[in-house]
Amino acid sequence: MLVAASRPASTPASLAVLTRRYGAGAPRVVELIRRTGGCTSPIRLVGESIAASASSGEVLARRSTDAEAPGFVLTECGNRRASRCPPCSEIYRRDAYFLVAAGLTGSEAKGVPASVASHPVVFATLTAPSFGAVHRRVVRGERVLRCRPAGQVGQCEHGVSTQCLQRHAGGDLRIGQALCPDCYDYEAAAVWNAAFGSLWRRTVTYLPRELAALARLSVRALRSQVRMTYAKVAEFQARGVVHVHTVIRLDGPDGPETAPTAWATAQRLAEAVGRAAARVSVTVQGSSGRELIVRWGEQIDVRPISPELQNGGVSQTAVAGYIAKYATKDAQIAGGLDRRLRYLRQIELADVTDHARRLMSSAWSVSPRWAHSFGFRGHFLTKGRRYSMTFRALRGARAAFREQADPWLAQVRAKAPGSDVVIVRALRYAGSGLSAAEQAIAASIRVNEVAVSNRTAAWALRAPRPGSAP
Ligand SMILES: [Zn+2]
Ligand SMILES: [Zn+2]
Ligand SMILES: [Zn+2]
Repeated sequence: MLVAASRPASTPASLAVLTRRYGAGAPRVVELIRRTGGCTSPIRLVGESIAASASSGEVLARRSTDAEAPGFVLTECGNRRASRCPPCSEIYRRDAYFLVAAGLTGSEAKGVPASVASHPVVFATLTAPSFGAVHRRVVRGERVLRCRPAGQVGQCEHGVSTQCLQRHAGGDLRIGQALCPDCYDYEAAAVWNAAFGSLWRRTVTYLPRELAALARLSVRALRSQVRMTYAKVAEFQARGVVHVHTVIRLDGPDGPETAPTAWATAQRLAEAVGRAAARVSVTVQGSSGRELIVRWGEQIDVRPISPELQNGGVSQTAVAGYIAKYATKDAQIAGGLDRRLRYLRQIELADVTDHARRLMSSAWSVSPRWAHSFGFRGHFLTKGRRYSMTFRALRGARAAFREQADPWLAQVRAKAPGSDVVIVRALRYAGSGLSAAEQAIAASIRVNEVAVSNRTAAWALRAPRPGSAP
């Protein structure tokens, strides 16, 4: 759903429209929209909730959406993408932050032992190799350097200069685009994106072998001393190729509750990550029949994560922040589209750069389903089972918290003091999206919520940061 960029219609006019449609139920609709945080595409649910006593099974109360105007309830769309639903994406970003941070610092309340904070952990960024020269913005200190000044002035076989003396400004659309589209290997770039998941899995498989080799142990002996876990996020670079930022942690043989042996340091882990990344590859047949070897590029950056900034390391809060931020982006930030394509012709018609169009066409030959994201198959944020808690657990905790605040439940509880109350919901899908007037109200709610969250963010920034002066 596209959200109108123009100013939302004034709220009084929208309220009048709502009153015509829902009568006395209009204020309740506004309240329902408010509870979704101004979600751009909420889901309408109809049905019944039953409150029963956990001990006796006796039904204490029933509540049906039929009995109450407007005859439905709303629930958030839950979309991760900032381009699709800003409020839902913001909730996802906070969950992602919490989930990554909990694996670094521990969260006793959510079942992650605080001792993980002392385990060796590294932050690694692995990128794809070059598929041809692209325009780039190179910043050194305060200065923006020339894009591609190297060597003598030359031309490729298509008569395109191999030099670019521009100092590209931040929003320049040429950044990430090929100098010569005919030289650029779009097929290999699309195949790389498509094989990214396999390459990552293979890297995770090789990592214990490399660590074992460094410690002169068998993999089996290693497993009796050390376990590895991770959280990772894929991010699109301007050239339309994904790269990965990952947190990799070492635990003891029985998981997060146990410490790894003393030789297993962050330095050794960093070395093993570098070796595994250099070694792994996946062989894929391209759509042209060419055999392509998918491997990591030379730009591999691995550094220890510590509670404080020191010796080229990164801080825990910075890492959790990066990962959470990237987790709400998609191929759109590299000029791709945020939804699936149905016909090949949509690629021709799309309002995208020539570079993006060519990459999408190549990705279409690999798999039409993932052409809009240049071949990448989704799964932006993934993590090992033992890393921390799950998104599901965080959502469950939030739902339970909200339920506690429900006045209806408070009334039911008052009726049956001393007994545990269970709620059984039998709600079904009855549509999604908002009318124009509802959308305007959601937009005004979003504006207010953003103001609130900006204030909260400003407050958080004033808190002392690790590594800064005491
Ligand atoms: Zn939403
Ligand atoms: Zn350039
Ligand atoms: Zn060329």
